[in-house]
Amino acid sequence: MTRVSAPILPGATIGVLGGGQLGRMFALAARELGYRIFIYSPDNDSPAGQIADREYACDYDDLEKIREFAREVRVVTFEFENVPSASTAAAAEFAPVRPDGRVLHITQNRLREKTFLKENGFPVTPFRRIDSLTALQNAARELGLPGVLKTADFGYDGKGQTKLIAAEQCEAAWKGLNGAEGIYEAFVSFEKEISVVGARTLRGDFAAFPVFENTHANHILDVTFAPAAIDPHLARDAIELAAGILEKLEVVGLLTVEMFVARDGRLLVNELAPRTHNSGHLTIDACATSQFEQQVRAVCGLPLGSTELRQPAAMANLLGHLWSKGEPKWDAALEDPLVKLHLYGKSQARIGRKMGHLTSTGETTEAAVRRVTSARQRL
Ligand code: AMP
Repeated sequence: MTRVSAPILPGATIGVLGGGQLGRMFALAARELGYRIFIYSPDNDSPAGQIADREYACDYDDLEKIREFAREVRVVTFEFENVPSASTAAAAEFAPVRPDGRVLHITQNRLREKTFLKENGFPVTPFRRIDSLTALQNAARELGLPGVLKTADFGYDGKGQTKLIAAEQCEAAWKGLNGAEGIYEAFVSFEKEISVVGARTLRGDFAAFPVFENTHANHILDVTFAPAAIDPHLARDAIELAAGILEKLEVVGLLTVEMFVARDGRLLVNELAPRTHNSGHLTIDACATSQFEQQVRAVCGLPLGSTELRQPAAMANLLGHLWSKGEPKWDAALEDPLVKLHLYGKSQARIGRKMGHLTSTGETTEAAVRRVTSARQRL
């Protein structure tokens, strides 16, 4: 039987590994609930650190500092999953880490993640481990072309990815890995990309937000809307699939499942993120409980909140290039009274860097998408 420990109540301090925007929005939600927040990340004045009670600007592999941090908090969660296993293990000596180190270990490597999914009967595109040019050539022959070669570690937003359409590209693609372990995946001809953000408590209670539909630009999430424009049965299947994954991983906290809706109608899992997700940002303005509040509730052992979507909604990311001609015209974006602006407090606007987002609700998802994309154009 699972041991259910007492809830960690408001007033307690929550520790977060990672200092980015997900940590910032988590910290804001936690503060609303009356918690204190300590942030641990390598940076000073990080987006999350700016609004935390305390910011530890230290390296993730400084185990002594991690221990010191964990001693000061009641629970550790994270917003960035590429934290070394030794660090989460060191933190776990003093405070529960939620989700735990095992979930982190599986989800921070694409090979381990896809192997876990496949072995447990969750649908994924066929894949192979790549550790040599021959392995890549064999994989391309066996699984077919086109395919996608990805680094197994530290991949996000399409970084470390190459699409292969001809066997002649294998050599250059293999060289591009620079000796790192890779994964070759059969290319999925998909109709849409969707995501499910699910939460699970220590008692095993589960709640998911309505399915989000995502569109990307240059491999980076561009616009999300909810509810996804898919058959309600498929939406139910997607949520069941996510529930099964959280259950199997025994997640305590949040986990996001990114999926493809293939042209033949099948759902295929692309990636897991053991945390809140960019596609869930619209929950702040459109759902009864935001994904960040839900993370607080789940990791602190409080009952989960309602995930009800109050109205169709859309979110548009604001990336660094919008700053290329100076500060964007925020007042112009906000001319539409339904549009909400969220900025992450990042001082350097680099190309492709996530600086903030806009959200809007609407009578329909189409209307909400129109509102956020028009507001973004006005910037
Ligand atoms: P990832 O970094 O794995 O989330 O991939 C980033 C994006 O690349 C995804 O959102 C898809 O648009 C695309 N992608 C990744 N893997 C595949 C695949 N096997 N087949 C088709 N598209 C893919």
